[in-house]
Amino acid sequence: MVEAGEEVYSSLLRRFKGDLLRPGISGYEEARTVWNGMFSRTPGLIARCADVSDVQNAVRAASETGILTAVRCGGHSLAGFSTCDDGLVIDLSRMRQVTVDPEARRARIAGGCLLGSVDTATQKAGLVFPAGVVSHTGASGLILGGGTGWLTRRFGLSCDNVEGFTLVTADSSLVRANAKDNPDLFWALRGGGGNFGVVTEFEVTLHPLTAVVLAEGLCPEADIRRLLEFWRDFMAEAPFDLKWNINLRLAPHTEKVPAELRGRPVASSSLVWTGAPEAGRKYVEHVLSLCSPDSVSSKLVPFLDLQTMADSDFPHGRRYYTKSGYFTWLDGSSIDRMTEAVGTIPSPETMIELAYLGGAAGQVAAEETAFGDRSAPFVMTLLANWPDESGDMGHISWVRGLFKQLRPAMKPGVYVNFMSDDEQDRVHEAYQQRWDRMVAVKSHYDPGNFFRLNQNVPPREPAAKGS
Ligand SMILES: Cc1cc2nc3c(=O)[nH]c(=O)nc-3n(C[C@H](O)[C@H](O)[C@H](O)COP(=O)(O)OP(=O)(O)OC[C@H]3O[C@@H](n4cnc5c(N)ncnc54)[C@H](O)[C@@H]3O)c2cc1C
Repeated sequence: MVEAGEEVYSSLLRRFKGDLLRPGISGYEEARTVWNGMFSRTPGLIARCADVSDVQNAVRAASETGILTAVRCGGHSLAGFSTCDDGLVIDLSRMRQVTVDPEARRARIAGGCLLGSVDTATQKAGLVFPAGVVSHTGASGLILGGGTGWLTRRFGLSCDNVEGFTLVTADSSLVRANAKDNPDLFWALRGGGGNFGVVTEFEVTLHPLTAVVLAEGLCPEADIRRLLEFWRDFMAEAPFDLKWNINLRLAPHTEKVPAELRGRPVASSSLVWTGAPEAGRKYVEHVLSLCSPDSVSSKLVPFLDLQTMADSDFPHGRRYYTKSGYFTWLDGSSIDRMTEAVGTIPSPETMIELAYLGGAAGQVAAEETAFGDRSAPFVMTLLANWPDESGDMGHISWVRGLFKQLRPAMKPGVYVNFMSDDEQDRVHEAYQQRWDRMVAVKSHYDPGNFFRLNQNVPPREPAAKGS
């Protein structure tokens, strides 16, 4: 594999416009780092592309040698898929152009953009693209897996707002996929992750929005059960303008947190209201009345503030492990399991994240996109977050143990972007009835499974090189 890296390097040297970073070269150490500290890998070559032709050349050179190849946008894969040992990383971080057409309410987003670059550019025109909640996340990985965030209920998933993709496929061709051109590929790219090629550009729909009401509050341990029951029943009827997420966790030791709650199990509520502020007041006030009075706040915030407020909670380089799934309904015993588990959480940054999908996202039929079935609106993600290797066993086993307890009450299915690297057996579960169609598209565009560092859908007949 090291030799293959040399071969790719030599073949790219003359025509590559971006940076070719090899071990020992200045810039390599920084470039090899990904967000999840669990994955400290040393690629043989990082090809940081300057433009689409660089991507095509990198894919061509790599497929000729058969080198293991990772594709990287923001490097935030929880499963560490955007790096590898000895192989090639196609790094898109120099391709961060966002072109906004304010009249048409559309944008073209280049394949290396972070969410922050998208938000900054679109907000200049008073517009938003619905995406995730942390601005240093890569747009490509997020959109290709589906993409949920504060605006999901109002405007749908990120992938629901994509009108077209341009991508470099495994044979290094530049292909367009939209409702007219290659519609099967267009379907598969909306939820199918990085299985089909390197997306160099997304054409997306934008929506007008510049500020939202943000309300937050903490509910003490004794009231968590009551709050979760209320949330479960309330969200089924809630307006599309309201997003209400709950994190079950140990309250941080910060000034904002009432002294008696610090370090104690709490339910931390965050509500975003995207409609006219007055119209949302009654919902926000009611929800906050269930929280500890000294912990609540409610204010109108600029959209860019909303999108960056969680950035420092998920720093690069810490260790993260996750398991996620859907519930159609949160029954009493699942609520009990979760409530009890908060007391056993192994570290203050580790949490049980609860979100309610529905809204505009819930209105897209299961067969319309590879993302699929949206009928189980409760999304639970167990996210462990700790500083060093000594915490690996305790955190990973806490997540696995709790997930095992909750699993029987879940609806089969999983969002590929919230999966870890040890869940290849759940990829089929992610696509279920859509599996055969996914395999057919994969077999057509990537018969040799060149793009395999992802929640992988293998092609029908993996063609061995040279056969
Ligand atoms: C701090 C943090 C916050 C998050 N918040 C949210 C959230 O609010 N909502 C949500 O839905 N998800 C969220 N996620 C999950 C996120 O969607 C995934 O981790 C996603 O894969 C990140 O994309 P990336 O481009 O940064 O990842 P990368 O690690 O660069 O890539 C991830 C996968 O996508 C593939 N890929 C990347 N770029 C391309 C491309 N241009 N073409 C083809 N394939 C490509 C890679 O090969 C890899 O398989 C969050 C993750 C983190 C770490």
